[in-house]
Amino acid sequence: MKKDDMLEITIEDISSDGSGVGKADGFALFVKDTIPGDQVKVKIMKMKKRYGYARLMEILVPSPDRIQAPCPVARQCGGCQIQQMYYERQLTFKENKVCNNLRRLGGLDLSAMEVEPICGMEEPFHYRNKAQFPIGRDKNGKIIAGFYAGRTHSIIANTDCLLGAEENEAILNEVISWMEVCKVEPYDEKTGKGLVRHVLIRKGFTTKELMVCLVINGRKIPQVEKLVDRLQKIEGMTAIMANVNTEQTNVILGKEIQPIWGQDYIEDYIGNVKYRISPLSFYQVNPVQTEKLYGKALEYADLTGKETVWDLYCGIGTISLFLAQKAKQVYGVEIVPPAIADAKDNARRNGIQNAEFYVGKAEEILPHKYETENVKADVIVVDPPRKGCDEALLETIVKMQPERVVYVSCDSATLARDLKYLTANGYKAERLATVDMFPMTVHVESAVKLVRENQRIETRVK
Ligand code: SAH
Repeated sequence: MKKDDMLEITIEDISSDGSGVGKADGFALFVKDTIPGDQVKVKIMKMKKRYGYARLMEILVPSPDRIQAPCPVARQCGGCQIQQMYYERQLTFKENKVCNNLRRLGGLDLSAMEVEPICGMEEPFHYRNKAQFPIGRDKNGKIIAGFYAGRTHSIIANTDCLLGAEENEAILNEVISWMEVCKVEPYDEKTGKGLVRHVLIRKGFTTKELMVCLVINGRKIPQVEKLVDRLQKIEGMTAIMANVNTEQTNVILGKEIQPIWGQDYIEDYIGNVKYRISPLSFYQVNPVQTEKLYGKALEYADLTGKETVWDLYCGIGTISLFLAQKAKQVYGVEIVPPAIADAKDNARRNGIQNAEFYVGKAEEILPHKYETENVKADVIVVDPPRKGCDEALLETIVKMQPERVVYVSCDSATLARDLKYLTANGYKAERLATVDMFPMTVHVESAVKLVRENQRIETRVK
């Protein structure tokens, strides 16, 4: 097989980046925009030693799971990899993926665990509370807002992303029409000239508060009061501001925030904890499903009010503050300093006094505190990034012998690897919950409850 060869294959799986995967002559071929069950004609684009990349030329027989993607630009955008699949089938696919990884890579016996049915969304669109639209001009010189076509820097006009808040479209239309009337130039990446680079929009789904932040290549916005006039008429508008980014870079946001109108933050809730969100702060993008996932983590932590809990990779403390309401004391550890500053602020504003936070690597802070201060934990929660936990951390967790470990994960392959370690070292995986935090994409989150084996025997004996 070589470049430009045409062949017919059947798609059998989906890769971690969302491409369909089929086989030909023992080679795995990755084909974007296909789903399992599709019989397709493809053209080879690039061959490696054991696998290759091919382009979808024609769907010969569509998969029974296939539907027309509701977004007309789904294929060009690439942000949604499986919009062309029935939502129910997306859920089954994700559920199977997590279970297969735990079985194959983690060596777990799922029949000995309580595997809960995947928690999907009733309405799997418009779930994102944050969107950043690049602003530019189309071929005819018209000002447009949209997104970069997969891996390029040309903007495809689309103000109505189906994953985003419904208010995005009205906001973008006002910004564009203000730019046209007031002759405000969009930024041009090639020349480094022009003012408006991106529009960042955030929404508090519970509070209905809206924030608009114009990312500008400069320090001053001409006729800004006319923009404010337009935007403040949109229901929920709470904060309008600018972010200064004068660098020639792909990074969207600069460091400096200028207030323009209203507050310089919005607020939102996860459970009964209130969060303050500024343009630069981290906040979970799907708060509805986050609450369900962290609700599971809370349930699995099984707190009575007497426990000391460590929440590792705590981010802005969402899980920590959720748990603090039911625990004696919670300690959070996170590597990003501004996230810890937010976690502390959020604790203070919510009157939560039994949560303390440390900046640093979980795999350094916890071992150090354990060796030097002999800190204890009844429950340890981890919510690591995709690469999973560092082994030094897992080692310390095992030494500390908490009664329960709750593992929240965004990558079931590394989850499986880490569960293999914990289950080989005295812990038993008891329950698994899977939550669809990002419908239409291949991402899936899960939570696993682990209990200390000898503690299980003790409770059985009692
Ligand atoms: N539960 C958190 C989100 C966790 S996402 C919340 O709701 O806010 C994973 C977090 O791990 C990120 O915030 C990332 O900055 C942090 N992180 C990455 N590597 C780390 C490490 N080695 N030690 C501690 N935190 C780390």
